[in-house]
Amino acid sequence: MNETLLLSRGKLTTFLECRRRFQLRYLEMAAWPAAPLPAVDEERLGRGQQFHQLVQRHFLGLKIEPATISDRTVRGWWLTFARFLSNLPHGRNMPDGRTLPELTLTIPIRGHLLHGRFDLLIIGEKDGLPFAHLYDWKTGRPLDESTLRHDWQTRLYLAMLAEGGQALWGEGQNPLRPEQISITYWYVTAPEEPHTISYNQAWHEQNWAEIEAIVAQIEEQQTAGGAWPLTEERAQCRVCAYQALCGRQEAGAPALNATEVAAPIPDDETDDLFAIPAIPLEPALP
Ligand code: SF4
Repeated sequence: MNETLLLSRGKLTTFLECRRRFQLRYLEMAAWPAAPLPAVDEERLGRGQQFHQLVQRHFLGLKIEPATISDRTVRGWWLTFARFLSNLPHGRNMPDGRTLPELTLTIPIRGHLLHGRFDLLIIGEKDGLPFAHLYDWKTGRPLDESTLRHDWQTRLYLAMLAEGGQALWGEGQNPLRPEQISITYWYVTAPEEPHTISYNQAWHEQNWAEIEAIVAQIEEQQTAGGAWPLTEERAQCRVCAYQALCGRQEAGAPALNATEVAAPIPDDETDDLFAIPAIPLEPALP
């Protein structure tokens, strides 16, 4: 019988990028360089985390004093966010409901578990029907709506709520339908242009089937055992710490302006990590 896995967006995307990397990293726990990020990216990550903590504290009801935010960039982000909240035009207000910042949700999928953490979830009832509205705060470069719709974060989070969000209400509640689930992305660099994406039943059926199919592929690999297949996309190897383990050293380091490859970053649900361009990682020694 296969080991039960705790899967997340980061793990699923790692599997899609390279099965061998998934196996080395999450099943065999092969060493991964601790802190290979360039200083500028480390600084950016730190600021993103600070900003998310401020927003979380705000939605927990704590008062934020801008003067106490020492980092000028983060202070500017916070002021932009505060202005956005106070200037929301009529009709685009956040829905009335229970605010749940930094909520984690874990749901079963084919004998495994799917795990996600949301920046903010608002749940409530409208016209007698339960609704769930996710918010995601971003400090990276804005993505267009089409890209966001296809992004694994959007797909997984909406699907997880459709499959398991009902538990947030308890017994005796009308079912939470996909049509009552949506996600809004807000970028500090484009504060007046949040993107809201609404879910629906047809999309959910297709989306959930595709997610289940990926988990089924992971199971097949678990059952097959041995070394899982190496990616055929050599660009992935250029930013991978496991080059030496795979004999892919010839892939080399990423070009300085490489943007076509996704960096294998830590499995963190903080979205801004994913907004960072390719990060060169040093090969681990075998
Ligand atoms: S070096 Fe390439 S093949 Fe090996 S784990 Fe990394 S991405 Fe996969």
